[in-house]
Amino acid sequence: MRRHPALLLVAAAIALLSCTASAAASLALKVDGQAVVAQLMQLAQWSDDPAPAVTRLIYTDNDMKARAYVQQLMREAGLQVREDTMGNIYGRLAGTDPEGAAVATGSHTDAIPGAGAYDGTVGVIGGIAALRALGEAGFKPARPIEVVMFTSEEPTRFGLSCSGSRAMAGLLDSACLDTLRDVNGSTYLQAASAAGYGAASTAQMVAGARRTPADLAAFLELHIEQGPELEKEGLQIGIVTAIAAPAALRVRFSGDGGHAGAQLMPLRNDASLAAAELALLVEKTALGTGVVDTVATVGSWHIQPNAVNSVPREAALEIDVRDIDGPRRDGVLAAIKAEAAAIAARRKVRLAVETINQDPPAACGAQVVAAVEAAVREVGASSKRMVSRAYHDSLFMAQIAPTGMVFIPCRNGWSHRPDEFAAPDDIQRGIEVLALALAQLAGDGSRGSGGGGGGSGSGARTEL
Ligand SMILES: [Zn+2]
Repeated sequence: MRRHPALLLVAAAIALLSCTASAAASLALKVDGQAVVAQLMQLAQWSDDPAPAVTRLIYTDNDMKARAYVQQLMREAGLQVREDTMGNIYGRLAGTDPEGAAVATGSHTDAIPGAGAYDGTVGVIGGIAALRALGEAGFKPARPIEVVMFTSEEPTRFGLSCSGSRAMAGLLDSACLDTLRDVNGSTYLQAASAAGYGAASTAQMVAGARRTPADLAAFLELHIEQGPELEKEGLQIGIVTAIAAPAALRVRFSGDGGHAGAQLMPLRNDASLAAAELALLVEKTALGTGVVDTVATVGSWHIQPNAVNSVPREAALEIDVRDIDGPRRDGVLAAIKAEAAAIAARRKVRLAVETINQDPPAACGAQVVAAVEAAVREVGASSKRMVSRAYHDSLFMAQIAPTGMVFIPCRNGWSHRPDEFAAPDDIQRGIEVLALALAQLAGDGSRGSGGGGGGSGSGARTEL
């Protein structure tokens, strides 16, 4: 195990969080980056596709093996383990204040088909390592600190992202969840029940995962950047200040089709050409805001009958639109819908538009961002403030608790592919930043009552 130099947290940093904190003290943190990497590689072996690809859909055999391993690591780190009805897994480091609202960290371990070993997993395995390091350093938090493995951040099996964190935040509609089916025709409740989770009804299952602002003081997620900015600028840590709001539309144009030779051009209503016009207008609409934070993508495109000698009868597009500004994003969505209607009228095709999801953006909690910045200074890392353009469980946790994210670089900004990679030193540094920030937010339980930063801060002392 590699020894890391003692990390000193100075009073100036603490003062951001607590006006009564004055004395500087030190905390010797040992984070073993190589051990964390070995655990990530172990986790990657439970995959439905051969290495280096990682494919792990929720509640499958490989997911259950990965879950058992996560729980084993939590126990080995001295954490109390529990699972909820959705299959969210918690490891808890007790606080000295039994009534204190928890400070939480965590991420996901599910992986889309053909993904890599680092997306989400760094925040789960790294979160456990952070709590382990705090415990081994003898740190006694005032508030409890929890690490969470969220169920189904990826939408692969049921088409819905972040089901675990949506349920925690009270933002998962059980009636809507009941309408979803996987490729085998199973409902979410059936799949969860088969995996040993679930409840008597979908509503009870969803309610069983609920957390409230009263029992959650703050949330902080460690994640690979999934973009190229940190690597390009040679920076070690990204301090996330906002998470972009995702939305998705499903647009279906229907025409009459016909034989590619016999159907003369003036008589056609070609669904694929309507889709082609719309795709170009999606790009134009996003560029039209004049802001780089607005992005729109036509990432899924299916035509029927998809034959060379047939005029396309059906064209179904899925359109992803994101922005850190909710109203601006909604303006783009409305413009795309209006364009689709105009194209359908002009080309005499039928149109159906469905909103798959339309989630709010999240601004990170000022006290969580301040805790991360103090931790970054303490570790001596280079950093910058940035926006998360991908969504994460943090997007939903931000609805019930002051939330933040710590980004580490990943090679070429690649993610959701088998060659996804983050360097062991970057992973270790990220965990150190995470541990120090969590310690600040939870407060030092050996020095008085109450927590430091997240909730109804009572001026508790937070020296480490
Ligand atoms: Zn992720």
